[in-house]
Amino acid sequence: MTTVFLKKGRDHSVRNHHPWIFSGAIDRLEGEVTPGATVLVRDAAGEALGLGAISPTSQIRIRLWTFDPEAKVNDMFFANALHNALVSRDRFKHDAASAFRVVNAEADLLPGVTIDRYGDWYVGQFTTAGADFWKKHIVATLMELSPAKGFFERSDAESRKFEGLAGASGVLAGEEPPELVEIAENGCRYLVDVRNGHKTGFYLDQRDNRAAVAAYAAGREVLNVFSYTGGFGVAALAGGAKSVTNIDISAQAIALAKRNFALNKLPETAEFIEGNAFEVLRKYRDSRRSFDLIVLDPPKFADNKNRVMGALRGYKDLNLLAMKLLRPNGYLATFSCSGLVTPDLFRKVVGEAAVDSGRDFQIVRRFQQSSDHPESIFFPEGLYLKGLLLRANP
Ligand code: SAH
Repeated sequence: MTTVFLKKGRDHSVRNHHPWIFSGAIDRLEGEVTPGATVLVRDAAGEALGLGAISPTSQIRIRLWTFDPEAKVNDMFFANALHNALVSRDRFKHDAASAFRVVNAEADLLPGVTIDRYGDWYVGQFTTAGADFWKKHIVATLMELSPAKGFFERSDAESRKFEGLAGASGVLAGEEPPELVEIAENGCRYLVDVRNGHKTGFYLDQRDNRAAVAAYAAGREVLNVFSYTGGFGVAALAGGAKSVTNIDISAQAIALAKRNFALNKLPETAEFIEGNAFEVLRKYRDSRRSFDLIVLDPPKFADNKNRVMGALRGYKDLNLLAMKLLRPNGYLATFSCSGLVTPDLFRKVVGEAAVDSGRDFQIVRRFQQSSDHPESIFFPEGLYLKGLLLRANP
């Protein structure tokens, strides 16, 4: 087997079971390099540390499958990992409306593999050379362990290009899914566009937070910023909100949001604004519009280290604008899904916005990604979604 020797003193993170090895930590390679194939990792003294997939073009050169150098990375290995992933989601029923994440990459010891279940369908992303190498096998095994009508691939994430992989989308097993798949979440129903929607179609990572925020919605005028297909908005209106104003820049997202509100037969007090959130919020500020509950769930502002400073400015501007629109005793549910912005950093930047707003806020609760998106104890990067629920003191 191809063997990778780490530089002296660069074995620390592997010994702590962190699954990524950056190119700079590698001293030399012995053997042939096939993208995605399994390599044995040794420290500078030759001690075997684990087995991983090699990505020859990526800065993250190796992602470890296992820290047991005696293990065999073969069909059984993936069958075991998938079985464990399924067992840990057994509180989610596999029925026509269930929607949950089945495989969450590193947290399920399958770096590069993300698989969601939408009712009778799997939708998966294979974002690394290693995941791509084992793709056919992973799909076949999952379909066997826990059958579905079909498995649809959405490996169209930008990040594949760092791995030397082209985008790939289409049916990998079973039948073609329908144009829209209907799912149930917290008692609400949503239509999911698994072909063209963001990621695999729906932001399942916000499920628990949508329920938590909806619990504050009764009788309130809600502003749902970055609404996508209506997730928080539908939940809030179903939770008794007086009205919901949804803002999103995507016409497609707004069109599906309208259908989702209609699907839930909610009172017709929802408003839909297609536009740039920053501009719309400024307009509301200038015209002194106000709300009792505001949800801010922006897209990822920082996807690499060079963008973190810019992202922080974006979060600050956005939160400051929202704070200005919040009525006394109102609530702001504010999120960041940029993994590079840590919970501490996020809290700090929201705090800076609060200072500039000239108002006082309490943190009422903290949010993170839903429980079907677990985080490995050895891989803090796996916690990408964080949020705060703030209450504006009068
Ligand atoms: N809260 C949603 C998910 C939001 S995803 C849910 O629960 O499902 C982020 C959304 O922000 C996307 O729908 C994207 O179209 C939108 N978006 C991105 N940039 C924007 C901008 N400048 N103004 C308004 N919406 C924007």
